[in-house]
Amino acid sequence: MRTLSSFLTERTLCVTLSRYAGLLAAGALILTGCTDQQPMKSSLEERIDRFAPTVITADTAHLSAGDRVALRKIVEAAAIMDRIFIRQVWDGNEALMKQLAADSTHEGKERFRYFTINMGPWSKLDHDSAFIPGVPPRPLGANYYPADVSKEALDAWVHTLSKAEQERATGFFYVIRRNNTNTLSTVPYSVEYRDLLVPAAQLLREAASSTDNPSLRSFLTKRADALLSNDYYASDVAWMDLDSPIDVTIGPYETYMDGFFNYKAAFEAYVGLRDDEETARLGQFASRLQEIENNLPIDPKYRNPSLGKLAPIRVIDEYAIGGEARAGVQTAAFNLPNDERIVREKGSKRVMLKNVQEAKFNKILRPIAAVAIDPAQASLVAFKPFFTHILAHELMHGLGPHNIVLGGRQTTVRQELKELYSAFEEAKADISGLFALQYWIDHGVVEKTMEHPMYVTYLAGIFRSVRFGINEAHGKGMAFQFNYLADHGAIVYHEETGSYSVDFEAMKSAVKALTGEIMTLQAEGNYSRVKETFDRFATIKPQMRSVLDRLTAIPVDIAPEFPDTH
Ligand code: ZN
Repeated sequence: MRTLSSFLTERTLCVTLSRYAGLLAAGALILTGCTDQQPMKSSLEERIDRFAPTVITADTAHLSAGDRVALRKIVEAAAIMDRIFIRQVWDGNEALMKQLAADSTHEGKERFRYFTINMGPWSKLDHDSAFIPGVPPRPLGANYYPADVSKEALDAWVHTLSKAEQERATGFFYVIRRNNTNTLSTVPYSVEYRDLLVPAAQLLREAASSTDNPSLRSFLTKRADALLSNDYYASDVAWMDLDSPIDVTIGPYETYMDGFFNYKAAFEAYVGLRDDEETARLGQFASRLQEIENNLPIDPKYRNPSLGKLAPIRVIDEYAIGGEARAGVQTAAFNLPNDERIVREKGSKRVMLKNVQEAKFNKILRPIAAVAIDPAQASLVAFKPFFTHILAHELMHGLGPHNIVLGGRQTTVRQELKELYSAFEEAKADISGLFALQYWIDHGVVEKTMEHPMYVTYLAGIFRSVRFGINEAHGKGMAFQFNYLADHGAIVYHEETGSYSVDFEAMKSAVKALTGEIMTLQAEGNYSRVKETFDRFATIKPQMRSVLDRLTAIPVDIAPEFPDTH
């Protein structure tokens, strides 16, 4: 799973719509928010301008000589993921890309530019509308299935198969093709993309023999095997254990592009360098979580006396990407693997792309803050508190009530809060993240100088996540927090400037109160009270709307450039 914009998936609206075009239940609702908030741009130039060109670099100075060689090989392998992914999008995509690349007119160059942003001829931010004349509508099943077979026909065919064949047909790593007798059959990725997987595997092997890090060597070797055997299990397990100065995620992963069934995985790569400073900070926070739990502003009977083992979190700086990772809005963090079998046995790992978040912060959040935050406080908005709060947010998901007992019945907060769960849980992580940081500031774990910047940066972030509507969990959760805090005098509107500021004393007590209220409702599994709370608070009021209306010219995302990898 990928998160597009730090923990605030601001673009999930339109992107989700296009990604999940086949899953209409959620799409219908989202479509309204999407169309209302994000009018389609007409000219190609306007469309391209929504992506701010941004240089992305990572510091390789501390790498060993062997790792430098490995890094070069891995970057080459990542470039092969581009080629496989282009092929996976649509069966006309490779030929079209060549044709566009050869057009040296101004317009031709713009088309090619926007093609490389989207990795295809359909604009992801505009409901996948085509921007190259003459191309067909985006195929819902991408190039995973024969172009002339409907979803229903595929489904009917799958039901005629033996159980073992069904597993392949619905599996992550098989395409469906017509064989020479014109009947449908499953083809393993290792066969379908063999011409490209053989050189990719070779590069990963060469990288494995160059690195001096055992966990990286193990992952690269096993992943090279997987590309050719089509069995990814052992390499996914090795990826969970990967802890190395070079952090690599490469292979077929996300299933968003399969608009028919979400079965098939798209090839991609994230090549990063571990951020040791943030990793150490994360470790420091992680070791103090029980203390936070023991001091949560809730009835002690709701506190968890012994927190379980933390899911691993890695903080890296992105160095190169490949395949689906290039397409459209840039990933800011991801959770993998998606394979349920490994998640059950080993859990999943979260990887946070710090320099990507910083780039988005500079290109999007800073200009938003310049509009939304009162000039007296705007200079307090900064990346360090922003990222520190993201770390706290991620950690706080693990605290507070999860498994609960209602009238003797064992249940979970998720089950009880149903469709309201995600937005409420995201709000919990945001607000209790502030609570935890304030606790650590008060106890000397986090520097006092972060106190005011942390609250003001958080306030600016609210506008970023509600910018495109409140139909999605983060936006809804943020609007809820905003209105609650405003009602408690913690956020103050200034008529003269049309912007907001934080009242720090009121903020501290409101954050504590809201943390307590949210966690108590979670502990009670109180669906009706959560619903009432959302109905009352999760709205966009006119003052906020007037600020949002002034944000339309600010870019939606970044278009990354990786000068070090050429
Ligand atoms: Zn979250």
